[in-house]
Amino acid sequence: MKQIYLRVALDTPLDSSFDYRWTAQESGTEETALPQVGQLVALPFGRQEVVGLILDVLEETTVPEAKLRDVFAVRHELPPLSQEWLALCRFAADYYQRPLGEVALPALPKNLKVLKTVSLQRAIKKLAKLADASDVRPASQPALNDAQQSAVDAVVNTPGYAAHLLFGVTGSGKTEVYLQTAAKILAQSDDAQILILVPEINLTPQLEAHIRARFPGLMLSTLHSGMAEGERMLHWLAAHTGRARIILGTRLAMLASVPRLKLLIVDEEHDPSYKQQEGLRYSARDLAVWRARQLGIPVVLGSATPSLESWHGAQTGRYRLSELRERAVQDAVLPVIKLINLEREKPSDGLTQRLIAAIKLRLEKGEQSLLFLNRRGYAPVLACDACGWISNCTRCTAHLVLHKGDHRLRCHHCGLEQRIPRSCPTCGNIDLQPLGRGTQRMEESLAAIFPEARVFRIDADSTRLKGSAAAAFERVHAGEVDILIGTQMVAKGHDFKHLTLVAALNPDAALFSQDYRASERLFAQLMQVAGRAGRAAQKEGGNLSEVLVQTRYPDHPLYHALMAHNYPDFAADMLQERQQAHMPPFMYQALLRAEAKELETAIAFLKEAASATDHIGIMINDPIPMTMTRVANVDRAQLLVESASRPALQAFVKEWIASLRAMKSRVKWSVEIDPVDI
Ligand code: ADP
Ligand code: ZN
Ligand code: ZN
Repeated sequence: MKQIYLRVALDTPLDSSFDYRWTAQESGTEETALPQVGQLVALPFGRQEVVGLILDVLEETTVPEAKLRDVFAVRHELPPLSQEWLALCRFAADYYQRPLGEVALPALPKNLKVLKTVSLQRAIKKLAKLADASDVRPASQPALNDAQQSAVDAVVNTPGYAAHLLFGVTGSGKTEVYLQTAAKILAQSDDAQILILVPEINLTPQLEAHIRARFPGLMLSTLHSGMAEGERMLHWLAAHTGRARIILGTRLAMLASVPRLKLLIVDEEHDPSYKQQEGLRYSARDLAVWRARQLGIPVVLGSATPSLESWHGAQTGRYRLSELRERAVQDAVLPVIKLINLEREKPSDGLTQRLIAAIKLRLEKGEQSLLFLNRRGYAPVLACDACGWISNCTRCTAHLVLHKGDHRLRCHHCGLEQRIPRSCPTCGNIDLQPLGRGTQRMEESLAAIFPEARVFRIDADSTRLKGSAAAAFERVHAGEVDILIGTQMVAKGHDFKHLTLVAALNPDAALFSQDYRASERLFAQLMQVAGRAGRAAQKEGGNLSEVLVQTRYPDHPLYHALMAHNYPDFAADMLQERQQAHMPPFMYQALLRAEAKELETAIAFLKEAASATDHIGIMINDPIPMTMTRVANVDRAQLLVESASRPALQAFVKEWIASLRAMKSRVKWSVEIDPVDI
């Protein structure tokens, strides 16, 4: 009887892998197949039964025989995960300082990790029954313009690893570059797979439709968090077995098993949604670049407003820059961007006369308007004029937002909900007033000002039900909406054809945020939302497309760069500032966060953490409370460490985490590498 040992990774916070015993069972004359690295295995852990991932198959182990336990069963039905995939997980675990098991196992569909294998067997059967879908020939492709053609050529003519930054203004036809690059790569080898990332679930249906129309004979798999588990399993398996040739997904798809990956595409690469904000706080964009390098394949990062990191990468030659300066559709031109000075033109109900007139012009010609207000709810706060009471969340450093439709005050951070009080809780005044404006209130005002118009709102509240977001965007595309009001949900990526007016109602707040990335984000957001206008050729007698920005600071350089559609100048200024201030991308950062019932406890922990160590080339800042200090009755503080050298920072953080563990503090803490929200 052959006996070997399996080293497995488990989804536990303990920073180690575990050894188990495996004994061959003789069934008749046939011996059971030997376990292999990359297979899943069911085994006992404490009193539970769990599924682990085989990292190593060993002849011997240092674990004493008495302590060893036997595995239950190896999942032979599932082809092993590849060495490349394991290496990707190992890198992510190492770089983001998490145990490997906490990276690799959560990256697998839930149904793979249950003990019963029925759903796996069902998915394998279902996949086998699907018709052959390996015809990679594209349906008819439009002729590319010169800029698009050189972007495609740059990718397909460069063998091996290369990171390409595709910098193309909104509507310049980046999607077409992705599709035709994909067609070429698919034609180069008979089993190539391509992974395409989009920042948001809501953008998958649009791109999915394009891909299906372009490659009718090919299997496409989609991966995002909105899928039912059964579906997710099937799509994951299609990618893992190599049958799906194009895999389209959100950031979580970056950790999918794609064994014959030949091209990576990250659309809207600057988008903050590529950063996971809990658990393994990875950047899917950064992992894409790492994965491409590891595999020796091209990665395409596309954006109209690249992240400063990527722009810097292109300036310094680490990335290859391809530029699309003009809109692809004949006679579609970039919209004119104008500022409306709120100091001079006082708005009523949040709308200036000039904006109202501009909307009227659109209504007359049957064109659409999009109003962008990045604040959902009716009003950000309810207040009492008589005594100064305002609706604060009792558990967070935040206001309770007024949601008029369902008669609720709601905290957007901890979820606390209350009925709207009839009178002031402090003085009894019954005349409570909403302060400020959210999308619901704007929707109400717009309906009152334009009773004949079809006003429609899209935000996280209006699209809570599964499938409702897709249906909402469909209505806009179908021309059933005259005035669309929405949050950043409507700003990104959508190719609205009938839209000739875009307005940003109140974007100023981000200009003065403490977050040093706020202006970079604001610029990207406004460029994106502006880019929704005028994507089709201008109609005979129709309105010119324009973008109106209501602001109190019309002289701000950010708005001037915006009006000039000048991302490169804006980026150059920002990079210069960052360099002078020693900030990323000229500096590498890690953030230690601490949470406690009392702020002092969290700060004291961070102080101790700061003093526990002393390193050359590492700068340790003072602990500070987080901007939003309290969330759900927990106080939060943070400590930033910086270094001009990434390897130095990595080495330091590794040791530091070990010493923090040794402190055995009761404070809950976590370390984030390359933090974006600080
Ligand atoms: P982006 O992603 O850069 O914002 P899209 O890829 O959505 O832009 O393209 C904008 C529009 O231009 C789409 O309607 C698309 O069909 C069209 N388009 C793209 N490339 C071409 C081309 N070479 N010739 C004609 N139209 C094109
Ligand atoms: Zn009062
Ligand atoms: Zn709260």
